[in-house]
Amino acid sequence: MNNNWQHNARNTLKGADSCNAFFQSQQFQDQGFPIKIPLEFANLIDKDNPDDPLLKQVASAPIQAQSGFSTEPLEDEKYTPVAGLVHKYPNRVLLITSRVCAIHCQYCFRQNFNYTEHDAISNYLAIEEYICSHSQINEVILSGGDPLSLSDEKLAQLIGKIEKISHIKNLRIHTRSAVVTPSRITTKLIKLLNHSTLNVVLVTHVNHANELSNDFAKAIRALSNVTLLNQSVLLKGVNDCVLTLSKLSMDLFELGILPYYLHLLDKVSGAEHFLVEDEAAIKLHRELGKKLSGYLVPRLVRDENLAAKTWL
Ligand code: SF4
Repeated sequence: MNNNWQHNARNTLKGADSCNAFFQSQQFQDQGFPIKIPLEFANLIDKDNPDDPLLKQVASAPIQAQSGFSTEPLEDEKYTPVAGLVHKYPNRVLLITSRVCAIHCQYCFRQNFNYTEHDAISNYLAIEEYICSHSQINEVILSGGDPLSLSDEKLAQLIGKIEKISHIKNLRIHTRSAVVTPSRITTKLIKLLNHSTLNVVLVTHVNHANELSNDFAKAIRALSNVTLLNQSVLLKGVNDCVLTLSKLSMDLFELGILPYYLHLLDKVSGAEHFLVEDEAAIKLHRELGKKLSGYLVPRLVRDENLAAKTWL
C-alpha cells in the first residue's frame, strides 16, 4: 500500500495557469471556486478530449447566472446547534472535521460554507457534550471538506473518542479523497477502520467509472471489515446517461461497493451548467432500473433545506 499520501497531496495542480500548462489547453480560468486537482486524478484525464467527464468536474465554466441558484443552497448553518456539528435527522449528526479537500469539485454545495466557524476538531468538547446529552443519536458522520484530509493520527484520536460514547453504534465517513487520491488509503487507515469497535461505513463519492483506478481498487479491497457505499451527483455532460451510470454501478460492485445515492444537483451558484432537470433525471433513473438488478440502482435523491432527504 502506498503510504506517501501527504507527498501526493502536495502534488496538486492549483489555479488556471498550472492547469492550462498541464493539460496544454486554455480552458481553465481563475473564477469562482479555486481550481485544485490532485495529480493522481489529473493523470486519469484524457488530455486530448476537451469533453473528458473527469475534466468537466474540475474545470471552470463560463458563468451562467440562473434563478434558483444561491451561494448556500442547503443552509447547513441553520442546523448547527454546536459549532462544527450539523443535526438535521434525529438519530445522526454530521461533524465538519476539516475544511480541506483533495480536489475542488466545481459543483460542490459547500464551496461557500463558513468553515472558519465550524471546526469539529477544535470544538470537540462541546460536540461530545451535545452528543452525550442526546441518547437518540446512534450514528456519527464524519464530513467536511474531506475527513480523510486529517492525518491518520488525528483520525485515530477522533474515532477513539467517538467509540467511547456508549449510544454511538455506527460511524460513517464521507470521502472523495479515497477515489481521487487512493494513496490516502494507507495501511494505518485500513487498520484503524477495520478494527474499530463501531460499525464503520465508508461512503465514497465517485461520479464516473473512469475515476476507478487500479490503485483505488487495490486500496478499497483491503477495507475488509467496512461497509462500502457510493454516492454520485448527477451532472450534465459528465454522467447523465444510462450507459455511463450502469457501467459505474457495475464497476463499483466489482470492487465491493454498493451504489447508494444518486444526488440531484444542489443549486449552488457557479454550477448551473451541471443541472439535469427533474423530469429528465427521473426518466433516466427509470431507464437505469430497467437495465440493472435492483441492488445496483442508486436511490435518486435531493437534499432539502428542511430536515429530510427527498426520494424521487
Ligand atoms: S470533495 Fe466533497 S466537499 Fe470537497 S469540493 Fe468535492 S464535493 Fe465539495
